[in-house]
Amino acid sequence: METQTDLGREIQSLALVDTHEHLLREDQWAGDNRTLIEQARQAGKPGWGDERPDILQDLFLNYVPSDLEVAGATKEAIQRLFDPAAGDIESRFAGIRDPWEATKFTGYGEAVRLIAREIYGLDSLTPDGLEGAQRRLEELRKPGERLRLLSEVAGLDHVQIDDFRWACEPDESGPDFFLYDLSWANFANGDLKAEELQEETGIEVSTLEDLRDALAAIFQRYAPCAIAVKAQHAYWRTLCWQERQDDEAARALAVVLAGGEVEEATRLALGDWCWARGVELAVEHNLPFKLHTGHHAGTGNMPIDWVRAGNLCPLLARYPEARFVLMHTAYPYSDELVSIAKHYPNVWVDLCWAWSIDPYSSTDFVRRFLHAVPCNKLFAFGGDTMWPTSAVAYAIQARRGLQRALEAEIAGGDLTEQEAISIARRLMRDNQYACFDIDGTRAAIRAQLAPAEIA
Ligand SMILES: [Zn+2]
Repeated sequence: METQTDLGREIQSLALVDTHEHLLREDQWAGDNRTLIEQARQAGKPGWGDERPDILQDLFLNYVPSDLEVAGATKEAIQRLFDPAAGDIESRFAGIRDPWEATKFTGYGEAVRLIAREIYGLDSLTPDGLEGAQRRLEELRKPGERLRLLSEVAGLDHVQIDDFRWACEPDESGPDFFLYDLSWANFANGDLKAEELQEETGIEVSTLEDLRDALAAIFQRYAPCAIAVKAQHAYWRTLCWQERQDDEAARALAVVLAGGEVEEATRLALGDWCWARGVELAVEHNLPFKLHTGHHAGTGNMPIDWVRAGNLCPLLARYPEARFVLMHTAYPYSDELVSIAKHYPNVWVDLCWAWSIDPYSSTDFVRRFLHAVPCNKLFAFGGDTMWPTSAVAYAIQARRGLQRALEAEIAGGDLTEQEAISIARRLMRDNQYACFDIDGTRAAIRAQLAPAEIA
């Protein structure tokens, strides 16, 4: 068994820091499916017409639908897969059976098989097995199970969650365990939600100075309990950043506030300006700034030039005092990212999601990184999912991949086992504790939960 070496035992047993998830809240996980259905409806994804938790959603509603579609599944078949009202489990699964056979060896497919085996005890997906798993899922969708799955089954130290909101508040279902990112994606995209901003800050934005004040007010309110700032605007615009003067940003703001069609150049001008203010505020409030780089989730719409980490060089050079966390190994521009991490002292690199996008390349990436960049700059894991059960599988993939990389280094004579163990500890935990103010964030959360005791 591969876990029988000292290195294997260390990697299996050490609590792993999870720097990136989009987890469902406790009430979404442990309640009925109604809030989820409502979210899906608002996102234009109708069809989850059942209030019961659903095993096919739990197994497949992660990243794997895009691989199924690439393998030939129709959008209708995928829709039926996730719609409990569309038929029994067997008939819904039948619509994707052939694409699934072609998909099960990808990283996403492997994760589905890991969920099936590790959570539900299924070696293959059979109608009877899935019915039993459905009953098990209903037991798991209870208060406290989300935390137990993540801390005890996945073996995580804590998770850092981007729930797409500015608000970062104590999560009473696990105040030390569930930490939150302050989302900056809309601002960096130049997509201003003036009404929400006013509701949140009390500032009615009509000039650039109002906007500057409103951005600062969001940090004032939420930075203390935030673990980081996060932006995934690489889904909607290029990561190319330019310094924008106030007069240019003010003109762009006026156009955006007027409503109606906004040209891309205008949106980018306002986005670059807001992005820069976000970086400055992150520095002021001692928060790392996480950025999506590389591959897009989904299918059929990835402008691949947008996503290179190399596009960020002007920003990295402009803010040497910031801490930038570049996510997902900028896949497939991973060599470029190694060069950037080697050159810019203000860059940390995060393997979140990378292990399931392309497990083989991620193992290779760790080895190339270790021989090029100081080993205090790499984070081993983030699952990047809504589902605690999927996070369990992604954590297994990360541990396996890391173990393979370090075992290969030992076999090649480049590391002793003791050295490999100390690198594993850094990548899994110590590097994250050095970059993020985890203890400070936890203390702020505890203080917010118990204001009376402080006073
Ligand atoms: Zn994500």
